[in-house]
Amino acid sequence: MPAIPAWPPKSLPRLFVRGRLGEGARVELDAAQANYLGNVMRLGEGAELLTFDGQSGEWLARIAQAGKKRMTLSVERLTREPETVPDVWLAFAPVKRNPTDWLVEKATELGVAKLIPVMTRRTIAERVKLERLQTIAIEAAEQCGRSVLPSIEQPVSLAELLSTNGRTLYFADEGGGEPAASAFKQGPSTILTGPEGGFTDDERSAIRAASNAVPVSLGPRILRAETAALAALASYMAIAGDWR
Ligand code: SAM
Repeated sequence: MPAIPAWPPKSLPRLFVRGRLGEGARVELDAAQANYLGNVMRLGEGAELLTFDGQSGEWLARIAQAGKKRMTLSVERLTREPETVPDVWLAFAPVKRNPTDWLVEKATELGVAKLIPVMTRRTIAERVKLERLQTIAIEAAEQCGRSVLPSIEQPVSLAELLSTNGRTLYFADEGGGEPAASAFKQGPSTILTGPEGGFTDDERSAIRAASNAVPVSLGPRILRAETAALAALASYMAIAGDWR
């Protein structure tokens, strides 16, 4: 659920719902969503809110029936067409749980199209809980006004990532590279960042050998892994993405 806003809220609450939205559709909310709207936001029958399903844009809906544990919405009209985000993916070596959560939340806010966990030699995290990361992305999307969710992929190996063609692979290399400010260009792009301990020398050589790889520098300081991922993504959005 989104964070609790100042009371009374200045804008309508936004809620992600599963299932396809459309004019006249009726949507059954689950207990957590009903609790959020009824008890946290103190909304009852007739109240308006904004909804999105991740595909069809943003819709104005109204609470048609409010029970203690259930709620039904009736969908009225489209308020925004589905958004388009720049074709930029973030391939990141998962770090510890909290920084990974933070990375997913912020990357969603920044407008990333796809998140790909990449397991590298020095990746400490053994497992990635995709469902948890999807929930975090949904909450971030509800908060920041996104109507299309980033897709969050199953973890891949570095070799699998390097076999993806047709996209420029901006490799954040703490060992040096072209400054990000001049390297980033519009077009299908993947940003790759390493784990807490960095890439091994073998991995760096393999990445640099890929024909689509562009090693980039994120400045003179060594950034924490999650800072590097978000700094690179924010820079990309400013230089070649939708901040321009
Ligand atoms: N252990 C490494 C070291 O001490 O050299 C540091 C790894 S850093 C914490 C984690 C990842 O962030 C790196 O693998 C790289 O992808 C990225 N990174 C951090 N600082 C960077 C910089 N100044 N330029 C490019 N990439 C950077």
